[in-house]
Amino acid sequence: MAETTPNIIIDESKIMSTLEAISEDAVRVREVLAKASEMKGLDAVEATALMSIESPELLEELFQTARRVKDEIYGKRLVLFAPLYVSNLCANDCTYCAFRKGNPAVHRRALNQEEVAQETQLLIDQGHKRVLLVAGEAYPKAGLKYIFDCIETVYDVKSEWGEIRRVNVNIAPLEVDEFRALKACKIGTYQVFQETYHKETYSNVHLSGKKRDFDWRINAINRAMEAGIDDVGIGVLFGLYDWRFETLALLQHITQLEQHFGVGCHTISVPRIEPAVGAEISEHPPMPMNDVDFRKLVAILRLTVPYTGLIMSTREDPEMRRETLSLGVSQISAGSRTNPGGYGEEDYEMSQFSLGDHRSVDEVVRDITSMGYIPSFCTGCYRMGRTGQDFMELAKPGLIKHYCEVNAMSTFVEFLEHYASPETKTAGDTLVNEILTEMTPERRSRTESLVTKVRDGEHDVYV
Ligand code: SAM
Ligand code: SF4
Repeated sequence: MAETTPNIIIDESKIMSTLEAISEDAVRVREVLAKASEMKGLDAVEATALMSIESPELLEELFQTARRVKDEIYGKRLVLFAPLYVSNLCANDCTYCAFRKGNPAVHRRALNQEEVAQETQLLIDQGHKRVLLVAGEAYPKAGLKYIFDCIETVYDVKSEWGEIRRVNVNIAPLEVDEFRALKACKIGTYQVFQETYHKETYSNVHLSGKKRDFDWRINAINRAMEAGIDDVGIGVLFGLYDWRFETLALLQHITQLEQHFGVGCHTISVPRIEPAVGAEISEHPPMPMNDVDFRKLVAILRLTVPYTGLIMSTREDPEMRRETLSLGVSQISAGSRTNPGGYGEEDYEMSQFSLGDHRSVDEVVRDITSMGYIPSFCTGCYRMGRTGQDFMELAKPGLIKHYCEVNAMSTFVEFLEHYASPETKTAGDTLVNEILTEMTPERRSRTESLVTKVRDGEHDVYV
């Protein structure tokens, strides 16, 4: 690694002493909530004050503040994507994951390029425009080039009305040169989760393989950014260790990225461990995170890093997904399968973990529409080069909203015109009209012009 990019260091003892001193103080909590309402974010000490909340009254105040900030910054937009599992080959032994090397219960499969194209076609036919390509940490004969080929295949599939316009990836950490080659494949975000920032727990749950090396993994984002990938996503697998420790460590990670690169991460993912075949620990996570703490976490992250996307997957059930949308989640997966080839044929024996939300994209779209959200399939920023620091410079003064809402509407209408069931189309068209009426005249006219183009048969129109 270049001298200019020091390694990420998590100060465990500082986190431990902060957590030992934690106790609910209503005056302090309200001071922090007042500051959070200014939408400039919070530091770790302030976030800790919010973690101390136990009383129902303060909890409701936390949630209300988070709802306001979420609404102010993100409006009614909600980005939708689907994971595309291309391979479950893996050389690591992560005790919580069905893909772990030593698990005989899972059928191993790496899709060939024809199969990747078929899965992509199925996702396009559902109306998706963004995929998250996922793979275990071992590749077929072609090596890492296999992943590059998969990305190219996904981008190459074209349909009458649609195509995948942004491929994000969640694959094992790479060397800087390999990250450069990955960037050249025109990926959107590179994601890698630390799983747990607590070193001892990390070593207990990662039994063998390259992933056992905590430092190699925690510095993956540094290497990706050094290689010029400026949209990066981090995350924690909640349930392995104390969620409050993990959150403070995650904030330390983000602070160091900001110090080194002038910008932190683009997204944070908040998976909780789900039961997985042949992965005993997934049935009884060492420190399971309950639903109240999970909502608290989402609200605290929304207030602490207001401009960072928060991703929730179909691991959570529909009710939890609905609740957390208002508290801070800005992106969700929909209609997901977690086994390679899963969109063509479901096979639990190949899945990575079980899902909490089994609904189709159409059902998810109808549900979030009924809550007043605009399902967005937008990929505009990434294709216009509004990424990394450029994105944050627009997001922080609230400017990104000018693009997002307009583009969200045009992609939503694209979905309604070409992929929605009649029921969803009726609900969606009603919402589109309602939202247009509420817009300022200037934004309304810009939005209407895109929406009209889409209804007249153009597609992929964005600002
Ligand atoms: N193999 C790569 C890695 O480990 O980073 C990338 C793909 S891995 C399938 C993606 C993520 O799935 C992991 O980072 C982990 O957080 C998550 N995961 C693994 N087992 C899980 C489980 N039982 N429940 C929920 N998420 C799980
Ligand atoms: Fe392999 Fe990733 Fe699963 Fe670990 S989490 S066993 S590295 S696929």
